[in-house]
Amino acid sequence: MGLFGGRKTVFVEADILVIGGGMAGCGATYEARHWGRNLKIVCVEKANIERSGAVAQGLYAINCYMGMQWGENQPEDHVRYARNDLMGLVREDLGYDIARHVDGSVHQFEEWGLPMMRDPKTGRYQREGKWQIMIHGESYKPIVAEAARKAATAVYNRIMVTHLLMDNKANRVAGAVGFNVRTGDFHVFRAKAVIVGAGGASHIFKPRAVGEGMGRTWYAPWSSGSAYALPIQVGAKMTQMENRIVLTRFKDGYGPVGAYFLHLKTYTQNGYGEEYESKWYNHTKELVGDYIDHHPVPTCLRNHAFLEEMKAGRGPIRMVTKEAFQDPHKETVGWENFLGMTIAQAVVWASQNIDPKHINPELTTSEPYVMGSHATCSGAWASGPEDCAPAEYQWGYNRMMTVDGLFGAGDTIGGTAHKFSSGSFTEGRIAAKAAVKYVMEKGRDQPQVSEQEYRDLEKVIYQPLENYRVGRNEIVAGTVSPSYLLPIHGLQRLEKIMDEYVGGISSNYVTNSMLLERGLELLAMLKEDMSHMGAEDLHQLMRTWELHHRLLASESVTHHTLFRKETRWPGYYYRGDHMKLDDENWHCFTLSRYDRHTGEWAMEKAPVYHIID
Ligand SMILES: Cc1cc2nc3c(=O)[nH]c(=O)nc-3n(C[C@H](O)[C@H](O)[C@H](O)COP(=O)(O)OP(=O)(O)OC[C@H]3O[C@@H](n4cnc5c(N)ncnc54)[C@H](O)[C@@H]3O)c2cc1C
Repeated sequence: MGLFGGRKTVFVEADILVIGGGMAGCGATYEARHWGRNLKIVCVEKANIERSGAVAQGLYAINCYMGMQWGENQPEDHVRYARNDLMGLVREDLGYDIARHVDGSVHQFEEWGLPMMRDPKTGRYQREGKWQIMIHGESYKPIVAEAARKAATAVYNRIMVTHLLMDNKANRVAGAVGFNVRTGDFHVFRAKAVIVGAGGASHIFKPRAVGEGMGRTWYAPWSSGSAYALPIQVGAKMTQMENRIVLTRFKDGYGPVGAYFLHLKTYTQNGYGEEYESKWYNHTKELVGDYIDHHPVPTCLRNHAFLEEMKAGRGPIRMVTKEAFQDPHKETVGWENFLGMTIAQAVVWASQNIDPKHINPELTTSEPYVMGSHATCSGAWASGPEDCAPAEYQWGYNRMMTVDGLFGAGDTIGGTAHKFSSGSFTEGRIAAKAAVKYVMEKGRDQPQVSEQEYRDLEKVIYQPLENYRVGRNEIVAGTVSPSYLLPIHGLQRLEKIMDEYVGGISSNYVTNSMLLERGLELLAMLKEDMSHMGAEDLHQLMRTWELHHRLLASESVTHHTLFRKETRWPGYYYRGDHMKLDDENWHCFTLSRYDRHTGEWAMEKAPVYHIID
């Protein structure tokens, strides 16, 4: 293999393999040790769990905490809240399961040293809104990672997992393969159960940030859709992949607005200094009916009013900060909010002469992202908890996908919005407990991997290095070659297709069946070209595999968007040919299954059961 001919193959045996050491992965690793004292628990991570995943930079609030010890909220309340925000469609069994356990996770974070803000009068955690509590969270991730590190038999950092391994005979997972992004070594993990916690997907739609700022996105730029692609490749069913999310954020830095609305009590205005949301009430009611009367107003519908006001030519939409920032305490909180979580927004304001005490900063709507833990619920279709999931949602162990022994948590699992950092960690714990039970009950019945399978994958994984080595000779300068495609070229092509055909920013989030069909054709052409990817070094090899994963996730999003013939979430995306919400036909989940042998996608509907009144 030319350049990297000296690489080793490293074999790792595990009882439980956790892929991705973010919030869900750390929760899973920690909990697996609790129930499986003598098991080999291995966590494998593309970066370094110390500072990996969406929480890498720190957070200022934990967005999912019931406060049951003080009677603040009950799990049922959270299910109602998430259901309302997702326009009626959530897996209530899974959401309830997280909500009833999430407080325990948060108390552990505090025990492990996470500084929590407390209300000086009541002594309770300082609330930012009904569900959020405020933290000094710059070190949130290292604190959580320490617990996982101490629980794991081994943590393998800097390994990009590219494929899952399957049992020779059954629909059963048997491990995973990947490569070390620093040494190039090939890793073969054989495992009895696998938990995927590999985060969401940014950079599948063209971002608003362009040129040298392109790497700046709201969701973590390194979230490359592995959480979806890995299970999709082996035929696991996915759900609600059309439910991409669009965020209202401070312009150019994607700074969060939650603390501003909830804690600083700031509000928005159009370019003329007018309140505008109420103006769009009748219009929105025509599209979605009574959902517009729900409280709180669903996130997508608030985006909708923003977008319509912009289209009407009355932008920019601004956050009114001038009043709140006169109070020195609030001013400090406003700046600290960014410094603990999104430093770039503070830098953008400084560079653009925006002092929020004197100027109301602009807001914008982001490009769409795919994820399962925020105000959206894309991901794998998972079996529910045995005490409260309807029979149709139970085919095995809690959080097991439709592939035996394959579990998931956090952004990976679909149907459960609003779990955020604490809920993702909690879901990791839930999945790990079930995975330990699975491993114990299987006993000596272990999955078998053929050497042929992982040796074939090895060839495919490293081929881009060879493509580059050979093809590079055909050009003397520049980056455009007749023989290979660089990952950045492929990424930009993917983003353009998704943007223009599947409802991104340049079409104001509107698509229709004709656009989606054409988008699928173009995605298929990109897929054909993927065997010609060229990677200059190991970093570019990682970028290549991230692109493979993003592409598969994008295909899934496009098929789901085509299948759901209604506009369920105006403000996230619009089906121009079916502009209204249609509860009669589409109050259901959408499910897909990919056949890796034929490349075909099978779509179906699944019922939504309301188990909470
Ligand atoms: C900008 C932003 C602000 C947020 N604000 C808040 C907030 O204020 N409060 C709150 O509670 N929550 C917040 N969240 C949500 C929270 O961060 C997520 O819900 C949570 O991190 C999801 O957990 P996860 O484990 O699924 O994904 P992540 O935490 O992102 O972890 C995924 C892990 O998988 C690894 N990985 C990915 N692909 C591979 C691969 N192929 N091989 C190996 N490893 C891989 C990644 O490196 C990463 O470590 C925010 C998220 C973002 C992006």
